[in-house]
Amino acid sequence: MRVLKFGGSSVADADRIRKVGSIVSSASEEGPIVVVVSALGGVTDELVALADGAPNDREPLAGNVDTILRRHLSVLAEVAPGDGETRSEIMATIDELRRLVTGIGYIGDCPPAVRDRIIATGERLSAPIVAASLRAAGLSAQPVCGTEVIRTDSCHGTAEVDPAATTDLARRRLLDAVASSIPVVTGFIGADRHGTPTTLGRGGSDLTATVLGAALEAERVEIWTDVNGIFTAPPRVVAGARPQPYVSYDEAAEMARFGAAVLFTKTIAPVRELGIPVLVRNTFDPDGSMTWVGREPDVPAGARSLASVEHAAVLKVRSLCRDGAAAGAVAVISQRCLIAATAAASGEWTLVAAQSDAESLHRELDTSGLEVELIGGTSVVTVIGSRLLQQPWVAGRALEALGRRNIALRGLVSPSEHAFCVVVDHTDHDRSLAILHDALMLPHLAERAASAARRDVLRKGDDNGSTTIDRSSDRRNRDRRTAARPPAA
Ligand code: ASP
Ligand code: MG
Repeated sequence: MRVLKFGGSSVADADRIRKVGSIVSSASEEGPIVVVVSALGGVTDELVALADGAPNDREPLAGNVDTILRRHLSVLAEVAPGDGETRSEIMATIDELRRLVTGIGYIGDCPPAVRDRIIATGERLSAPIVAASLRAAGLSAQPVCGTEVIRTDSCHGTAEVDPAATTDLARRRLLDAVASSIPVVTGFIGADRHGTPTTLGRGGSDLTATVLGAALEAERVEIWTDVNGIFTAPPRVVAGARPQPYVSYDEAAEMARFGAAVLFTKTIAPVRELGIPVLVRNTFDPDGSMTWVGREPDVPAGARSLASVEHAAVLKVRSLCRDGAAAGAVAVISQRCLIAATAAASGEWTLVAAQSDAESLHRELDTSGLEVELIGGTSVVTVIGSRLLQQPWVAGRALEALGRRNIALRGLVSPSEHAFCVVVDHTDHDRSLAILHDALMLPHLAERAASAARRDVLRKGDDNGSTTIDRSSDRRNRDRRTAARPPAA
């Protein structure tokens, strides 16, 4: 079984939904599949604006609901003309949305549980349309709401998945169903133990896909988006960036954390333990290159990609009195930071956060009685790869290249053995990415480093048995891996 997830840009209009249909159709010829969909591109943003907009502004809001309705009805009319049942379902979902929006207008407030119901509407509209389009193409398909298969806590807006309860629900609802029909599951949505709808965080449909992949022990999860996989650097900034054929789970997780927007931050965790590969593929270039994300022993060591948070701020925090309360306050706040470098013994901490969070973090630290210096206008550029710390020449080469071109460093830290971050002035952001890409990602360097590292790892593996390479899990996963491995880019 495979799980195929299609993002908002892949289902943005009727033509694109038909492209999805042809991908799903050929995938379903190879075996059972579960489809996960996002809302039609842009719809969640509009719903967020409805939920968060001025509560007294009822008239214009009603107009927005009508626009959302018209868009979905016109897409449905194109992909599945005459599907009256799906049309009624859309009307009913929009009626519910209208009531919620009117309600928050009257009470002048939008409680988190209501906000979740509003912003979940996008997926509740897209899944029936995609299912209808598959049926119109001659396949058997049914929409399934995430509330039926994803169990979460009650933390609205960023709900955490309960893996055990979800596995139980998903297996019961989907395992038999896939034999006769393609379930089209709404991404992004779950329900707590009382059945109240929740959402997993913006971009959370990727997580729905990997959570279901793990629950159903899928042979792989495919994230279909609008680019050919995970790139060596943000292509918008670095002209020579290219898609990576292989990336380890850890690298993919670090990339999401440090600003590469391809995957939602929590996507990898559910499949990592089981060794289920994740493919990142392009809906608009289904035969083109793609990225395979899997276990670390299967990818060569070395620097593989660059990610960046363009607008960041450094918070230098100092505690005047040495009590545990200060450390406690900083520890809580650092969970919302990109990087937390601690020198707790001296009562000093350096935190790096996204610029958009910096002001509120500053205020919170301030009210905890800490002295804070905020340095805005910086960027965090992160080099990501496998077993980086075992290859100090990678960091050496990176720093040398930046130094030669006079890039001043505002900070330097390695948050894990898969990444090291340099903090630079925002004005040096683009140049730093280009310099590091030239220094580290040129194919001949990458290949040379990779083969040296591979020799190294294999030698160590021979010396001390199987400590460096987990051969048993390797064997267990070999078949599904070879099946899933993409052609080299
Ligand atoms: N529709 C949701 C969002 O835009 C979830 C997703 O697309 O993954 O955030
Ligand atoms: Mg996405």
